[in-house]
Amino acid sequence: MIRGKNAIVTGSTSGIGLAIAHCLAAEGCNILLNGFADKAAIGALVNEFQQKYKVRADYSPADMTKPAEIAEMVAMGERVLGSVDILVNNAGIQFTSPLDEFPNDKWDAIIAINLSACFHSTKAVLSGMKKRGFGRIVNIASVHGLVGSANKGAYVAAKHGLVGLTKVTALENATADITCNAICPGWVHTPLVQKQIDDKAAAENISPEEATNRLLGEKQPNRKFIHAEQIGALIVFLCGDNGSAMTGEIMTVDGGWTAQ
Ligand code: NAD
Repeated sequence: MIRGKNAIVTGSTSGIGLAIAHCLAAEGCNILLNGFADKAAIGALVNEFQQKYKVRADYSPADMTKPAEIAEMVAMGERVLGSVDILVNNAGIQFTSPLDEFPNDKWDAIIAINLSACFHSTKAVLSGMKKRGFGRIVNIASVHGLVGSANKGAYVAAKHGLVGLTKVTALENATADITCNAICPGWVHTPLVQKQIDDKAAAENISPEEATNRLLGEKQPNRKFIHAEQIGALIVFLCGDNGSAMTGEIMTVDGGWTAQ
């Protein structure tokens, strides 16, 4: 039963995180949103959650590259919502380049946002979860937490690291009702992937439609994008009573990508 539980979803102003926040709120979960967007869009989003789902909703501007801001986001969740029962570590960025040309600042940013931020947020929520004897942590990894792809060195390293962090978080809290799982999506059509489609279209001098077909055809056997709501629905399951026996699981939602 997740009605009345309090959740933080990082990177929930866009894409997968936004869909996850909608799915949790639709089940009656109060939500602390996070991520970048302009002030008006954030105000409208918070208002939409409050009106549509009749839940408590607020927004933390925490930058996932800054550990102190991550700690403050968790403190805000405890202050404004009353507790943090569910943490979804979703914020993430991508940058593609061969390793020998990979810009150092891009490497640092990807490791900070896609991996270290998940450590800092997990560390910050655990004491409250332990005190209350309940917690659900879900890390949005990627198929790139399990397999590699050329030109994604930092992303693949960060997501493999996140899979490892998931297992350790699960083991250290296994006797409490605190679970930690990772979801590894294949291609989901979001702004993060649209940029890769645009880059591919430009590099191969093809239309965006052809670039999309090639992108899906190269890796994802069902040749369809995964819907972000399908990931949200899995998180609703994991956070509910029937998810309590699942911990340390690394779950793919990938249209067959890693079956190859
Ligand atoms: P997106 O670009 O649509 O959304 C990313 C979100 O993260 C946004 O809300 C953005 O504001 C936020 N964000 C970025 N940098 C931040 C920072 N420093 N501090 C706080 N928030 C920040 O991307 P998406 O495709 O929805 O990706 C969400 C997650 O899913 C990422 O971790 C990504 O690696 C993972 N993922 C995506 C796909 C896919 O195909 N789209 C596949 C597998 C995994």
